[in-house]
Amino acid sequence: MPNDTDDKTKENESINNKNSSNDNDKNNDDYENYCYLCRRPESSAGPFITLPGNMHVCNECMQKSFDAFNNNQMQFIDLSRMPNINMSQFMPFDDIPQSQKVKKKKKKEDKPEEAPLTLENIPAPHKIKAMLDEYVVGQEYAKKAISVAVYNHYKRVITNTMDDIEIEKSNMLMLGPTGCGKTYLVKTIARLLNVPLAITDATTLTEAGYIGDDVESILSKLLAVADNDVEKAERGIVFIDEIDKIAKKKETRSRDVSGESVQQGLLKIIEGADVEVPVGAGSKNAMTPMTTMNTQNILFICGGAFPDIEDIIKERLSKQSSMGFNADLKDRFDNEPNLMKEVTVDDLRDFGMIPEFLGRLPVIYTLDALDKDMYIKILKEPKNAILKQYQKLLALDEVDLKFDDSAYEAIAEKAMEKKTGARALRAIIEKFMLDIMYEIPRDDSIGTVTITGDYINGKGSPIIELRGTNI
Ligand code: ADP
Repeated sequence: MPNDTDDKTKENESINNKNSSNDNDKNNDDYENYCYLCRRPESSAGPFITLPGNMHVCNECMQKSFDAFNNNQMQFIDLSRMPNINMSQFMPFDDIPQSQKVKKKKKKEDKPEEAPLTLENIPAPHKIKAMLDEYVVGQEYAKKAISVAVYNHYKRVITNTMDDIEIEKSNMLMLGPTGCGKTYLVKTIARLLNVPLAITDATTLTEAGYIGDDVESILSKLLAVADNDVEKAERGIVFIDEIDKIAKKKETRSRDVSGESVQQGLLKIIEGADVEVPVGAGSKNAMTPMTTMNTQNILFICGGAFPDIEDIIKERLSKQSSMGFNADLKDRFDNEPNLMKEVTVDDLRDFGMIPEFLGRLPVIYTLDALDKDMYIKILKEPKNAILKQYQKLLALDEVDLKFDDSAYEAIAEKAMEKKTGARALRAIIEKFMLDIMYEIPRDDSIGTVTITGDYINGKGSPIIELRGTNI
């Protein structure tokens, strides 16, 4: 009998040992390897070459070492002639303490392989618009325009048979006040079509050679979003925000490096050309690898608020209509909320966009300024509406979150005061939801919370119903 138990304990021990050694292996697998020479982890230095003795060296260091050998900068030492040499004396391979190791990022294996767009699966414009309707409130014209433009663009890209009848790219220029959904519209369409999208800000761009990003940095971003797959990136979408900020400066005595010159720099890229693009960095330098990207099939969408363009439009309209009688016409357009809709290419040129640039953006349209109704709809209707997100969070605690109509109105009014568009909604909601999200999970008996307008305006508290009271 005692022998039996002894055997069992030994067996258990050996199993435990096996487990722990497995765990160790697993733990080591979980951490990144470091380049023995430059000390960068594999995630930033690229795949390593593993040498005998578990020594890892990145490609770059390996190349540099070869170059150094080739240029006779290094003397070879014939190690075979040195007796009893123990390499590990010189090379402390495992000298990086555990606390300095970086855990590997989990691979995105679960993500299903994206189906590339084909003529069969590219949705028709009405279908694209229907998908957009689920997320973007209002902006009917913009949704229609973008659906048609994107559909035509990808049809042209996929068939690739337009050589005899050259169809121009349907690059777009979107105008609209801040926070009305310009970026959101582009983001949504790129997600629905499963194409890479790079969003950049025109304010960061400068003429090559000056402090700031070169125009090619836009393409580097797109390449990075497409996992450095050039072919995939060449069918992507680039959204350049704040395009109004690169308008020609009116009175400058110095060189306009962030205005007109950037527009000039963008011309070639937007129209379609082979461009040398730095990989994995915003700017070119001797150490950055470069690749060539063709921008022929990249869809460029520019967006901007064009803040003072309304004055230019007003001036033009009042000039036109004051041909015979001109008394009260000047302020006729003052209270027009969507005056921007009347914009023409001439107005944009007067604003400071150069004609060559505008010529490469054939589809120009304006988004509506948001009104109270739209704010309320944005709160309630989109598939991922912000209030729905909170409702879902509380539903996990089995609490029903409700909003009465006065609450919607109060939130919308507050957001309108801020004049930053729908972006203000989140800030307002976060503020009043903080207390609720903090207090509710503390009390198990709460079943329903109703947010009222008075609560939003700081005049009351939410209505709380306990579980079981309404059964
Ligand atoms: P901008 O026009 O300045 O680019 P955004 O597109 O970034 O504004 O809008 C900011 C946020 O406001 C978006 O993330 C989105 O959640 C919300 N939003 C704006 N307009 C709409 C809209 N028409 N429908 C739904 N949500 C909107």
